[in-house]
Amino acid sequence: MSTATVNPPLNPVQGVPGRFGAYGGRYVPETLMAALEELEAAYAEAQADPEFQTTLDGLLHHYCGRPTPLYFAKRLSEQLGGAKIYLKREDLLHTGAHKINNALGQGLLARRMGKQRIIAETGAGQHGVATATVCALLGLECVIYMGEEDMRRQELNVYRMRLLGAEVRGVSGGSATLKDAINEAMRDWVTNVRNTYYVLGSALGSHPYPTMVRDFQRVISREARIQILEQEGKLPAAIVACVGGGSNAIGAFYEFLSDSNVQLIGVEGGGRGTALGEHAARFQKIGGGLPGVLQGTYSYVLQNDAGQVSSTHSVSAGLDYASVGPEHAMLHDSGRATYTSCSDTDALKATVALSRTEGIIPALESAHAISEAMRLAPTMAKTDVLMVNLSGRGDKDIGILARELDLKGAEASPIVSI
Ligand SMILES: *Cc1c(COP(=O)(O)O)cnc(C)c1O
Repeated sequence: MSTATVNPPLNPVQGVPGRFGAYGGRYVPETLMAALEELEAAYAEAQADPEFQTTLDGLLHHYCGRPTPLYFAKRLSEQLGGAKIYLKREDLLHTGAHKINNALGQGLLARRMGKQRIIAETGAGQHGVATATVCALLGLECVIYMGEEDMRRQELNVYRMRLLGAEVRGVSGGSATLKDAINEAMRDWVTNVRNTYYVLGSALGSHPYPTMVRDFQRVISREARIQILEQEGKLPAAIVACVGGGSNAIGAFYEFLSDSNVQLIGVEGGGRGTALGEHAARFQKIGGGLPGVLQGTYSYVLQNDAGQVSSTHSVSAGLDYASVGPEHAMLHDSGRATYTSCSDTDALKATVALSRTEGIIPALESAHAISEAMRLAPTMAKTDVLMVNLSGRGDKDIGILARELDLKGAEASPIVSI
């Protein structure tokens, strides 16, 4: 609940459900323990129920548009002159991003648990829109908590949620952004836990959320693994995904974790500099995060020397959060995945590059992964495959892009050269 971190537990419990190495766990007030235990049990039951899986798979296919294509970006690959770049097209899903995979799974679970009222938090509004969509689809009451600062920045998504029938509640405390919206949603949950289900939007929070959200996003790598074997007859040399809370990245990595030849690369929001407060790169070596507890889980947290949560900055709202999913903290420490960051400027450049070479306008979050792929591809062999998870489409970012980029046409734009 608290927005302040506490010191790392002295003897973190390892090897138990809900722990990823030392990370994860369940750091919540007593009043929420019963709710989390109820959720854990209900989720385990649903997972074992073939009917639940059939309903989920059916809606993922007919409603959301799965399987998403694995697209060979030929022109981008040729211009970079290295590895063959493939894009996993989560941007083509209903509502425009991977978030619907998780919102749909949790919505069905809520219905199964007999909860009629849904609450969720949202930063840029993407998870709020996905949740409001699923509530309309399933006939559930929907309340979305959103920082008032974010409501101003993302007016269009606020209207979308209201159009879909959701109530959007502005949060004015703290910095009036995502972290504060999560605190408010947790307060609501404590009060109304009997009839209310909390749909968390990323692989974050207390057990079972990080595991459950990962499982609902795992479909990305389950499909991609089959698709790349069909199309190339081999596994990718590397997979790149952007990391906010970490749900699209863990979904894209998961089925490749035991393929030790497949390099896994997460890209964080590098913002406008390496000093604390200027970025959202929790794994950055200097000026990055340290282990701590934030909003129910033990992971890397951007914090000052006193353990107070630092402010963050990224041009991309979906990457702008002080902590990161605990499974990524484990993958980072073990070295199975590596984490890098991409600056605001490079993400904007990559947005233009992908738009003009492939006719695909990526979400600013996804553009962070594209930028890293553009850096990596030329260092790789022409026979290598580099897979990028294109987590979402850029329609939601057009306002920001128009402010940040003064585009007059290809010749007038100095940043398109790749
Ligand atoms: C929300 C969002 C992200 C960041 O969230 P993760 O949980 O890290 O995936 C990335 N891309 C898009 C398009 C988003 O909407």
